[in-house]
Amino acid sequence: MIAKAIKQIHDQLPEGVELVAVSKFHPVEALKEAYDAGQRLFGESRVQELLKKIPELPDDIRWHFIGHLQTNKVKQIVGKVAMIESVDSPKLFELINKESEAAGVVTNILLQIHVADEETKFGFYPQELFDFLNEIDISQYNNIRICGIMGMATNTDDKNRVKEDFLRIALVFKDIKNTFASIGDQFTKISMGMSGDWPIAVEEGSNLVRIGTAIFGERQY
Ligand SMILES: *Cc1c(COP(=O)(O)O)cnc(C)c1O
Repeated sequence: MIAKAIKQIHDQLPEGVELVAVSKFHPVEALKEAYDAGQRLFGESRVQELLKKIPELPDDIRWHFIGHLQTNKVKQIVGKVAMIESVDSPKLFELINKESEAAGVVTNILLQIHVADEETKFGFYPQELFDFLNEIDISQYNNIRICGIMGMATNTDDKNRVKEDFLRIALVFKDIKNTFASIGDQFTKISMGMSGDWPIAVEEGSNLVRIGTAIFGERQY
């Protein structure tokens, strides 16, 4: 089941689009199945769950943290994850740099932007993100590598709305890349698209899709 789903998705993904298998709320057995099918990139959204899973699985797995990260937990995952996709505030950004410096590592991050029609979702509004990047001196942050942006579309059956949201995220990416030369050449990732909407996201320029349910089924706990 899991192996087949991964293969099917891979067969449909264009060259250059990476798959994050979102394994939150699934037991390690399920992740092992995905690993045996060749999957090496996994996404988790809770610190405790991630820290429990890491030692139970092979160490050539790359972990992306994709959930809202509380500032008091940054220290626990810095140095253990390949990327934090969900950097949603200046405070979190500062702290990741600080804790990464203390740990002697450089942490890859994505800036999470908020375009969806939902009050509760986290992320910078596009204007907030521009203001933030304008305010800071990016070159002073030696322990953070800004690799791109992450976003979600509105949770709706209205495909046009979903398409608009993804288009907007892709435009913010381009704007940032063009506006802030100091952001660097590693600013290449557009993480968007989940089980229900990833084909639209890829059409609009995603190169990192985060897929859970369509691989692992309904979340188990
Ligand atoms: C859970 C989650 C996903 C995966 O959602 P599915 O609908 O199960 O594919 C993707 N991105 C984020 C940020 C998530 O929290």
